[in-house]
Amino acid sequence: MQALLGLEVQDIERILGPGEPRFRARQIYRALYRERQLDLMQISTLPLELRRELASTYSVGIPSVERRFESQDGTRRYLLALEDGKTVEAVWMPEEKRQTICISTQVGCAVGCRFCMTALLGFERNLSAGEIVGQVLAAAADNGLPVGGERLNVVMMGQGEPLLNLPNVVKATRILTDPAGCGISPRRITLSTSGIVPKIQELGHQEVRPKLAISLNASTEEMRRELMPITRKYHLKDLMEACRAYPLRPWERLTFEYVLLKGVNDSDADARRVVKLLANLKCKVNLIALNPGPEIPFDTPEEERVLAFQRIVSRAVPCFIRKPRGRDVYAACGQLKKVSL
Ligand code: SAH
Ligand code: SF4
Repeated sequence: MQALLGLEVQDIERILGPGEPRFRARQIYRALYRERQLDLMQISTLPLELRRELASTYSVGIPSVERRFESQDGTRRYLLALEDGKTVEAVWMPEEKRQTICISTQVGCAVGCRFCMTALLGFERNLSAGEIVGQVLAAAADNGLPVGGERLNVVMMGQGEPLLNLPNVVKATRILTDPAGCGISPRRITLSTSGIVPKIQELGHQEVRPKLAISLNASTEEMRRELMPITRKYHLKDLMEACRAYPLRPWERLTFEYVLLKGVNDSDADARRVVKLLANLKCKVNLIALNPGPEIPFDTPEEERVLAFQRIVSRAVPCFIRKPRGRDVYAACGQLKKVSL
């Protein structure tokens, strides 16, 4: 059955055809994304006949929770099943005053960063806009998130390279941010990229787009080539240029993520070079001490090293240490490899 998730109002108008009044499409759209109605027969604004008709031809198309892995710290990693039987992961991170959901944009990843467990999955396929939005709806439903007024942050930092699936990511962002749709502020949605330079430029031209985070992870061209082979195609120099040219909105700044690998990219000299790279950029830095995993040939630096690195960078730009969430259930950054526990 064809899925409704991922459709925008004009798409729904098209499938309903000229026989239905045009406001029906808006009602369906609202029921799906705003009210998060997962049962088509329960959309009470529609005549019963239309509900039946819809339900006989279409499914909502929400990914189903195949497994749920609960961390000591309250983080939940989801293994979600898609319509074609493939699976993907999303991570729910509750905090006192807000929740954050980390979603995937592809099944697996083709980029091959050497410190990342997702790279070991290889690439299977792009997720559709509906599958991207569906992860948010599935986790919201599973955690009983009340409709309206929620303080939900969305990060596109799960499996996959979002900028290699840009059309679907942009469409999903429109639905997620539309006040008649999921109604999440664009200030609360962040996309992280390994640095697909031409797509950064393309993203900058989108009217509706998430905030941008760049996985920097090295302070020199050579080291970045070693750690992130994509650098051979998109050089660090060009990446920094694209960052400088990026059209930030008045309230926005870039985020640079930097995974610290013990004895590899975590020296004081690295920190000083990072400061130089970021000169004159409106940005902040998030340091991530390596989340370890089997087959990852790097170690996690000691806390003192991470703090020393932070001290140097924060003299120039705001610099934070990202707290690992859900490491014990392979839910933290770079650990999404569908590990069964
Ligand atoms: N593909 C995108 C988004 C997913 S990765 C990207 O690479 O940006 C999300 C973040 O996790 C990236 O900043 C990445 O550098 C980081 N990361 C990858 N593997 C990691 C690991 N083993 N430990 C800590 N962070 C990791
Ligand atoms: Fe892909 Fe990001 Fe992992 Fe690199 S860090 S392999 S781009 S998911």
